[in-house]
Amino acid sequence: MKQFSPEHLRNVVLLSHSGAGKTTLSEAILFATGTINRLGKIETGNTTSDYDPDEIKHRISINLSLLPFEWHESKVNLLDTPGYLDFVGEVKAAIRVSEGAIILASAASGLEVGTELTWNYSQEAGQSRMIFINKMDRENANFNITVEQFQSRFGSKCIPLQMPIGTHTGFKGVIDLISMKAFTGSPAQEGAIPAELVEQAKALQSKMIEAVAETDDALMEKYLGGEELSSDEIIKGLQQAVAADKIVPILTGSGLQSIGITQLLEAIERYLPSPVQRKIAVAEDSSIKDLQTVASGPPASLVFKTTADPYVGKLTYFRVYSGTIESNSHIWNVNQNADERIGQLFIVRGKTQEPVARVEAGDIGGVAKLNITLTGDTLGTQAKPAKLAPLTFPKPIYSVAVHPKTKADLDKMGSALARLAEEDLTLHIRRDHDTAETILSGMGDTQLAVAGEKMQRKFGVGVELTPPKVPYRESITQAARAEYRHKKQSGGHGQFGHVVLELEPLPRGSTNVFENKVVGGSVPKNYIPAVEKGVLEASKEGTLAGFPVVGLKAIIVDGSFHPVDSSEMCFKIAGAGALRQGMQDAKPILLEPIVSMKITVPNDFTGDILSDLNTKRAHVMGMNPEGGINVIDAEAPMAEVLRYATDLKSITQGRGTYTMEISHYKEVPAHITQKIIANRQAEKEQEALK
Ligand code: GDP
Repeated sequence: MKQFSPEHLRNVVLLSHSGAGKTTLSEAILFATGTINRLGKIETGNTTSDYDPDEIKHRISINLSLLPFEWHESKVNLLDTPGYLDFVGEVKAAIRVSEGAIILASAASGLEVGTELTWNYSQEAGQSRMIFINKMDRENANFNITVEQFQSRFGSKCIPLQMPIGTHTGFKGVIDLISMKAFTGSPAQEGAIPAELVEQAKALQSKMIEAVAETDDALMEKYLGGEELSSDEIIKGLQQAVAADKIVPILTGSGLQSIGITQLLEAIERYLPSPVQRKIAVAEDSSIKDLQTVASGPPASLVFKTTADPYVGKLTYFRVYSGTIESNSHIWNVNQNADERIGQLFIVRGKTQEPVARVEAGDIGGVAKLNITLTGDTLGTQAKPAKLAPLTFPKPIYSVAVHPKTKADLDKMGSALARLAEEDLTLHIRRDHDTAETILSGMGDTQLAVAGEKMQRKFGVGVELTPPKVPYRESITQAARAEYRHKKQSGGHGQFGHVVLELEPLPRGSTNVFENKVVGGSVPKNYIPAVEKGVLEASKEGTLAGFPVVGLKAIIVDGSFHPVDSSEMCFKIAGAGALRQGMQDAKPILLEPIVSMKITVPNDFTGDILSDLNTKRAHVMGMNPEGGINVIDAEAPMAEVLRYATDLKSITQGRGTYTMEISHYKEVPAHITQKIIANRQAEKEQEALK
């Protein structure tokens, strides 16, 4: 591939709900531009974009794919993204490194929740956007309804620049409302607008021209003066309006039938910005605040994706914002504050890599086997260390416990998990000390299932994923006094320790406190720390079901000792014993974690969501219906919503999303407490049998 100056580059991300046809459209584009000479299909698992075995197996995009192609004078780095919301980390990364977005919608399904969500991400990132209404060849395809949905959701700035010829019974092509020409067939032939569509096309055209005129004073004056705007004026006006987010052009076609592709390519080149037109986002602590997209500028590239493969090794994807990266050179990793050796650079297309000597400002490249570099790092120079704004990811909402299948798997599990988390920054790993489980968290069940499969396929580690144990806790609800005497007289040297404890409940959420109120030396000072140790250790396993005790104040008020037989060990045992005794009289309770949830669903599903929440002991805190979408705030016991990702998917056919965080602990209702205690008992018996 030749070098392109940044004015001739376009970095464009494809965004939509799963299944709107992004991968199929990318394939059609690569074929139309002569980048590939065979058209792959989702059904046969041979598209350029979805090459990963997991993607072929699940028939969905899991990773972002880079699909560069040349068109006229330009090079476009097309980034295909997963529509499945489990893989939103990839979507966010792809948005971060592209100036423009094409939002896809299937003309048969209309504006879907996932599409709306990616629209919001794109908007937050300040991208310029176009809408492509795809699948016009499908049964029930409806261009007008889909346009109306976008307009009612995102405003009248969504304006068709095209209209379809023929409905699903014979979708033939598109009418370009600027040139007022028809493009039919594949490859497209230019022709006149069919007579029966002329009126409709004219009506849509004048709406479009009026919308463009409204975005610019000079054009408005001319328009109001009754003068006709030239095609050039309309195109220029559109360019500015798209850059300023005053207009979002709507195009249409069919990726599968390769209809509307050339017109889409033309629109990308015309209306989506080049890297030069966008301000470069730098990190708050960057020493350089103002970077320009020039190949001779101070080097600053953002690493936006890392893949780990046991055979190929590590592959790092970067976007150059300023300066140039050369093959076989050294570069400064600004985040790690260290030198990194760069080997052969590549232009990546799907799974293929084409070696290049350099990658210049505005472009995207790849390099293998970096040592210290992680996703999110800036590669620059030590002399002028500009730092780019980092990637941001949503918080995890779904967790599973990861159990190794064998002892050998246990040994390799930690490093394999760490490699996965390096590839996918929405995956988090932690050890839950309360439940002694390794917890893998992410965005949904599919993502975590794929992670589990990857551990086997890539790293040979067999694991089983189960819902995590709920980290219950225990506490007390009233004050109590308890006494424990540890005494043993077995031959020679005896054992003696005697402790009197007072227990008091502390406000919910407090950590445990130990206090010494012994007067007159009934327990000598040097034994007090041992008592404290015994009390705190015993508080790790409550007397109800063995869960950690919290919100407890333990005060040693009295006791006694023996000048010969007492020891630290004896007082530790006495402290622990006194606590256990006292707990029984202090009305112990079980506490369970409560999560706060924000559930976003199309309005039609509100009733189903609420009645499902009802069965989950949840409390609805508020609702915010707007524009056909309802955002429901709720609190629910964690134990009831461990599989909410799956429940929500089945209630809404994948059209709902949610976020969830642990908010506080609350007392478990009595009838459920009994069940938990019984389960825990059975669990302990099981463990004892092992
Ligand atoms: P993605 O999830 O957005 O990448 O969507 P895919 O490209 O994987 O397409 C999902 C399904 O829709 C596949 O079965 C495609 O064959 C089908 N599809 C994609 N584009 C079109 C289209 O333009 N017309 C029709 N009829 N089907 C399409």
